Amino acid sequence: MSHEVVLIPGDGIGPEVAGATRSVLDATGVDIRWVERSAGAAALETHGALLPESTLEAIRRCRTAIKGPIATPVGQGFRSVNVALRQDLDLFAAVRPVRSLPGVPTRHHDIDLVVIRENTEDLYRGIEFERGTPDAAALRGKLHDLGGFQIPEDAGITLKPISVSGARRIVRFAFEYVRANRRRKVTVGHKANVMRYSDGIFLETARTDASDYPDVAWEDVHIDTLSARLVRSPQGFDVLLLPNLYGDILSDLCAGLVGGLGLIPGANIGWEYAVFEPVHGSAPDIAGMGIANPIAMVLSGSMMLRHLGELKAADTVDRAVDQVLGRRQIRTADLGGRASTVEMGEALANEVTRSEVA
Ligand code: ATP
Repeated sequence: MSHEVVLIPGDGIGPEVAGATRSVLDATGVDIRWVERSAGAAALETHGALLPESTLEAIRRCRTAIKGPIATPVGQGFRSVNVALRQDLDLFAAVRPVRSLPGVPTRHHDIDLVVIRENTEDLYRGIEFERGTPDAAALRGKLHDLGGFQIPEDAGITLKPISVSGARRIVRFAFEYVRANRRRKVTVGHKANVMRYSDGIFLETARTDASDYPDVAWEDVHIDTLSARLVRSPQGFDVLLLPNLYGDILSDLCAGLVGGLGLIPGANIGWEYAVFEPVHGSAPDIAGMGIANPIAMVLSGSMMLRHLGELKAADTVDRAVDQVLGRRQIRTADLGGRASTVEMGEALANEVTRSEVA
């Protein structure tokens, strides 16, 4: 079966890791027809927009996309491209599997957990009022009238909306995910004791809807305690269910536990579309040097293969990553080696080809 998939190389190290990923996925023999589109800095130059309509249109048509990291220019009034993509396509669930990989030296071993992050609400909803603007002044006035809140004149304001409907769909997604993937337990992270009307809704909704899944164990933990427990004994966790901001932060923390951002894949999933992308950003500090680790994006590709129903090919890619890392011969700089992005991509593609032939 042939699959049409949108490929967005992205910014910074994006084109480098995307090139390697494409060669590994092509080596599986799965018939993927790549539809290349741009977003981010590259698109701003060629299309005059960070997220061109032609890119969104292609994703709506193909329904599946894989993208490299995209950088949003800071301080120029642009809405984050990643946030815009998630909101415009209603990709409400971020799924980020984190597991210990062979041959990667780390403090902890035998980690196998999945971060499920709500992707559309919370402090990342993008509702912001810039310090010193008439809108910020009007909001401060309103807040004073409504609740006597004294917000300093020199404050900028970011709002944190969390709705029952928004929480409900991610809670149900997480519990369904546990069932479908034969996982064991959901841990809900929150700070409902302080943010009673936002995190409180997240926790209450989890509590209510968990009763529809009596076969799935769950617990709730304050986000600060959860962070401490994660760095002490991450093996105790299975599926972490988190509101947007905490999900972003703890994804990177979990990445650090298993060897860094160069290793962690991700999927952004909605009812209609799915966009796969590594958890890491565009890494401007190493962009263009040819040393980025492509594994995070390659593993995002294997998640995509699984989503497309190509289970055997997905397993082959995962195994190739384990085998190449386990041999400890080809490693990129972030893992203490000297291999280039291209060399790592070639080693993975060769491994995939070998196991396809075997
Ligand atoms: P964003 O805000 O877009 O998430 P960030 O500021 O969190 O980005 P990243 O771009 O993810 O930062 O980079 C954080 C650090 O991790 C940098 O030092 C970068 O070089 C390193 N890094 C990220 N991705 C990779 C990779 N694939 N290979 C090697 N190093 C990486």
